[in-house]
Amino acid sequence: MKPDIEMNDKKNKKNSVSPLGGSRGLLVVLGAGESGVGAAILGKKEGFDVFVSDKGIITEHYKEVLRNFEIEWEEQHHTKTKILDADIVMKSPGIPDKVALVVALHAKKIPVMSEIEFAVKFTTAKIVGITGSNGKTTTTMLTHHVLKQGGLEVIMAGNIGDSFAKQVAENDAPYYVLELSSFQLDGIYDFAPHIAVLTNITPDHLDRYDHNFENYIASKFRIAMNQTVDDYFIYDADDEVISKYLKQHSIRSRLLPFSITKKVENGACLEKGNIKITIDNNEFIMSTNNLSLKGNHNVKNAMAAATVSQLLKIRKTTIRECLENFHGVEHRLENVLKINNVQYINDSKATNVNAAFYALDAMKSATVWIVGGVDKGNDYTELYPLVNEKVKAIICLGLDNSKIINAFGNCVDNIVETQSMKEAVDMAYKIAERNENVLLSPACASFDLFKNYEERGRQFKEAVREL
Ligand code: ADP
Repeated sequence: MKPDIEMNDKKNKKNSVSPLGGSRGLLVVLGAGESGVGAAILGKKEGFDVFVSDKGIITEHYKEVLRNFEIEWEEQHHTKTKILDADIVMKSPGIPDKVALVVALHAKKIPVMSEIEFAVKFTTAKIVGITGSNGKTTTTMLTHHVLKQGGLEVIMAGNIGDSFAKQVAENDAPYYVLELSSFQLDGIYDFAPHIAVLTNITPDHLDRYDHNFENYIASKFRIAMNQTVDDYFIYDADDEVISKYLKQHSIRSRLLPFSITKKVENGACLEKGNIKITIDNNEFIMSTNNLSLKGNHNVKNAMAAATVSQLLKIRKTTIRECLENFHGVEHRLENVLKINNVQYINDSKATNVNAAFYALDAMKSATVWIVGGVDKGNDYTELYPLVNEKVKAIICLGLDNSKIINAFGNCVDNIVETQSMKEAVDMAYKIAERNENVLLSPACASFDLFKNYEERGRQFKEAVREL
């Protein structure tokens, strides 16, 4: 039986969905993580027969949820015959398009979509979608903070916290701020955020894009592909990759750039140390000194969040207050402790060169830099000027540090290798002097020595607290 929602009908929102109970076809969910289980719950609520299939082991927590909702599931294999019988398939972002099962689904013309695409069909909410290589989480949390304080009934979801689908099923609200990865955007067809934010584009995850940067760029721009003239596209006008793409492709929605280097007429820029946002002659002004989050990258994130907030008519005093009191996100340039007047900073989430660039850029005094891990094909050359200017010593923390040593051997006299966080922090403690910084901003993934970046950041904080 075919589902009674038309996959390509944008008007098909909540009101046109049939009542609960009667089957609307088979929804197969591939991957039982947060997004998969969320989609399964929503599918069940909306009257689909739901089958969840995971090639790995499903966590006990999600098994329990699936049992509670009486949703059928399997783990450690995929029953191909059943899956190929689906009317709709929701694929988790972790599963590449190239796997044989997904290829077979495409061949049978069964719609395969991301959880975002599936869930948006069941809500009439206004959506702010935020994507980019770096700054998604910070900008999403900052935007959500302002909108919530501004009195909107707004939910934050996507790559953060509960899945979008689960929220739509259980607490639907008139506004959502969604953090969107390129993998989620790869699985959309009709999804169109009213306000899209593209923070920046630097090479990342290229293994999933045939090692072709253009494919990754195109994937990020999918966030705007279904927008109309009534929608908005907020982006970093200092980002050359974005600017080049916009010169070659047209976007229907209204463009609102932000920049820290040039003037913009409509959008956000800097003027005499202030952020100035202009939208149709309506101006918002705030001093960058008052921003709670430090660093040029956070000026940009604040510009993006404030532009969204201004579009959604949040009072200017509220926007200002929120940007002043937002307390930051763990593992992102997080001040841990000051010991002997040395500031220890946890930026464990810096898993690529661009993020480390902005961390070093934000350092106001000499810095002992803890760097290394699993290199994703890094090119360190863009860091040379900053490292020359600010880095007094490099502490490598990875199984293989040769690339870092080769890259920076000529700029920094003091480079040492360590193999555990405790060793790295103890070494940094010995080297750093009053008024200097110890910065963990690895520019690399963490899984050679740690479970993930969170564990790396936590171990750093523990080691600092034990000094
Ligand atoms: P994401 O969710 O895109 O990974 P986060 O907000 O978690 O982004 O930040 C990831 C890393 O990038 C952190 O090290 C953070 O300090 C840095 N960062 C945050 N915003 C930006 C930005 N606009 N440009 C570059 N780096 C950024």
